[in-house]
Amino acid sequence: MTMQMTSAPLLRGSLSPKSYSEEEIEKEAIRLQKVINQGTLWDIETCKTIAPLTLEINELKEKNDVFLIAHSYQTPDIVYGVADSVSDSYSLSKAARDAPQQTILFSSVRFMAETAKIVSPHKVVLHPSPEAGCTLSDSITAQDVRDLKAKYPGIPIACYINTTAEVKAEVDVCVTSSNYLKICEKLPGDKLIFVPDKLMGKHLTEHLEGKKEVINYDGECYVHATFTGNKIRSWKERTAKDGIQLQVLSHPECDSDVIAESDIVGSSEVLREEALRLGTEGKPDIMLITECGTADRIRAESENELNLIGTCVMCRYMKMTQLEDILQALREPHPDQIIELDEGIIKLAQNSLEEMFRLAE
Ligand code: SF4
Repeated sequence: MTMQMTSAPLLRGSLSPKSYSEEEIEKEAIRLQKVINQGTLWDIETCKTIAPLTLEINELKEKNDVFLIAHSYQTPDIVYGVADSVSDSYSLSKAARDAPQQTILFSSVRFMAETAKIVSPHKVVLHPSPEAGCTLSDSITAQDVRDLKAKYPGIPIACYINTTAEVKAEVDVCVTSSNYLKICEKLPGDKLIFVPDKLMGKHLTEHLEGKKEVINYDGECYVHATFTGNKIRSWKERTAKDGIQLQVLSHPECDSDVIAESDIVGSSEVLREEALRLGTEGKPDIMLITECGTADRIRAESENELNLIGTCVMCRYMKMTQLEDILQALREPHPDQIIELDEGIIKLAQNSLEEMFRLAE
């Protein structure tokens, strides 16, 4: 059984796209089909349907000097049709900061657009889907962090980057899925508080056993919490009977028993790079334990035939943004589609991010 693909989104019909000639639509649809590279779902007729949207979005980006960035978990029409930069949340914030354009459109969930605003406060940051939250960032508030500080005075607090600006402003340091072990190990003292991901906190506890005590919070990513070590073991047994040597690649937001069954653990960018590398090394049988967008990217970008085994899970928040939302935000953004943060919050949140850069070295 091969991994499911992200379905081509049905247009909501909430906007009237600009009119283009048949020739322009045909040409754009051919381009889209080529870059999305998943002919079964994204056939030429589907690509013709979305072509007027991608044409107008790309026109408006150029006309208004907008840099459009998209997280890897966005749908392929956004990732390959209109994005200027695609990566994980941390790399994208740096891309937002370094882009010469003064307007950034961030196609993803809310906390990521906020992180872009924290690192580029002088830029306009547009976020087309204000309702696109995240179970991790929604699991903790700034008041929750203040309560932890009152309960455990003097103990350093590290927060995963999947948090709101207000939470980042309250903690000592931010971490990402690629540096959380290294940074937490370097924090002073023999105790630390880790928020909000309890599963990442569980690996951290195991990693620091005998060195530091970790006080964990209770949040989780509902996508990555779905996977279990048992499911992976049963896939391994099944595929081994067919002579398949499965390579298991998982994200650190998964539980420890999943990590224990994995050959490679890393952020969505690391998993994409590693899957492409395995393809070039003649190891095409890959099980991806993460959100479906990573598999879509690997399919589109691999030059080798890969056998993606198992099932992925789609994040309902990540899939809230559609081309129509992006077009609407570019034409005339609503006030809640423009990220506004208090200056004091930005300054404090910047300190937590700068501390991350310093400790990650
Ligand atoms: S995949 Fe998980 S961590 Fe990422 S946005 Fe969705 S709920 Fe949040």
